[in-house]
Amino acid sequence: MFNNNIIQRFNNIETPFYYYDLGVLKNTLDACLDASAKYNFHVHYAMKANFNSKVVGMVQSYGFGADCVSGNEVKAAIEHGFNKGKVVFAGVGKSDKEINYALEADIFCFNVESVQELEIINELAQTKGKVASVAIRINPNVDAHTHHFITTGLDENKFGINTWQLNDVAEALRNLKNIKFLGIHFHVGSQITDMEVFRNLCTRINEIAEWFEDRGFPIKVLNAGGGLGVDYYNPDTNIPDFASYFEVFSKFLNVKPGQEVHFELGRALVAQSSSLISRVLYVKNGQKKNFLILDAGMTELMRPMLYQAYHEIENLSRGTEARSEGAGDISGNAAHSAPTKYDVVGPICESTDCFRKDVDLAQSFRGDLIAIRTAGAYGEVMASNYNLRDKVESVYSE
Ligand SMILES: *Cc1c(COP(=O)(O)O)cnc(C)c1O
Repeated sequence: MFNNNIIQRFNNIETPFYYYDLGVLKNTLDACLDASAKYNFHVHYAMKANFNSKVVGMVQSYGFGADCVSGNEVKAAIEHGFNKGKVVFAGVGKSDKEINYALEADIFCFNVESVQELEIINELAQTKGKVASVAIRINPNVDAHTHHFITTGLDENKFGINTWQLNDVAEALRNLKNIKFLGIHFHVGSQITDMEVFRNLCTRINEIAEWFEDRGFPIKVLNAGGGLGVDYYNPDTNIPDFASYFEVFSKFLNVKPGQEVHFELGRALVAQSSSLISRVLYVKNGQKKNFLILDAGMTELMRPMLYQAYHEIENLSRGTEARSEGAGDISGNAAHSAPTKYDVVGPICESTDCFRKDVDLAQSFRGDLIAIRTAGAYGEVMASNYNLRDKVESVYSE
C-alpha cells in the first residue's frame, strides 16, 4: 500500500490522519458485488463502519443499499444518494424522533428489536396515516466465536427478540394495523471468520422462517445481517472471501420463490482501505519497557482500547523489510537497525491509551512515520475530541 512516493507525500502532511487507498476500496467493492450478484443477493452497507463522505459516496455508486442504526445515519444515507427503497433502520433503542424521521422518509424497512418497539412504531405510523414495513430482528442464540465484546446473537445480549418471545410478536403482528411484516432479520456479531458460524445461522434462519410461515406470516425478506471478518494480520494481501461467504448462504439457506436474501456488511467492505498515519513524538526507553509515544491515540482509533482489537503497526520511515514484523532477515541491510520491542502508545491521559504492547519494530526515532493498518472500519467514526483533540483529518490516494 505504501510506496516511496506515498511516503514522500506523507512527509509533508501534518499527522495524525487517516489515509484512504481508494483502489483497495474499489477492489473490495468489486469483489463483493461480483460474489453477491451471482446469487441475486441484496447487500446493504452498514454505515456505522465508516461514514466518511468519500467512502460512502463510492459504496453508494455500486448500487448497494444502506443499513443504518440511527436517524442521522438514515438521513446521511439519503443525502448520499442511497435509494430510500434500499435503506434499512436497525437499533435496539430507536427514539420517537428517529422513527418519525424514517417514517417520513419512507424507508424500505425497520428492523425491529422488541415487541414494545413494534407497538410504538405502529402508533407513530398511525398518527401519520402510514404503514411501516418491518422485519423482526431475532436473536438466534448462535455463538459467533468472536471476541465476547462484539458478539450480539446470544441470549445474554441486548439485541433482538429472543425466540421464546415469538408468540408475543405473532400476536402483535396480527393486531397492529399500521405495521406490514416483511420478514426476519439477524445479526450475530462482527469480525466472524469461521464460515461454520454462518452455516449455523442459516439453520436457525430456516427454522425461524418456517415458524412464521406456519403461523400465516409469509416471509419476503430474509436478512442475515453482517459480520464477515477481515484478516487484520495481513493488511496487504487478503480481501475478505466474499465468494465463500455468500456460497454458504446459497447452499444452506432455504430460499422460497419470491423471497429475497439481504445482507448488511460493514467491516468487510471498508476495513482494509485505510490506515491511521501517525508520527513518533518521543521514544522512551525504560528498564523493562520501551515506549513509542505517537501523536495519535485512542481519540483517533479506539478499537484496541475498546475491545482489545489487533492492528498491524509498521514504521514507514525505516524501510520496507523492517516494516513487516517478524519479516526476519533485516540484518543484511545496513540501513536498518535491529528490531526492538516497543509498547506503542498514544498521548492521551489514560493508561489504556495503548495500541499494542511488545511490538517488534526496527529501532525507531522521533519523527518516524507509523502506520496502523486495517483501520477503515470502526476507526475514524469513533474519533472523539477528548482532551480537546483536533478533529482527525482524512487523506486520499486520488
Ligand atoms: C454493525 C452492524 C452490521 C455490520 O457489522 P459488520 O461486522 O461491520 O459487518 C450489520 N447489521 C447490524 C444490525 C449492525 O448493527
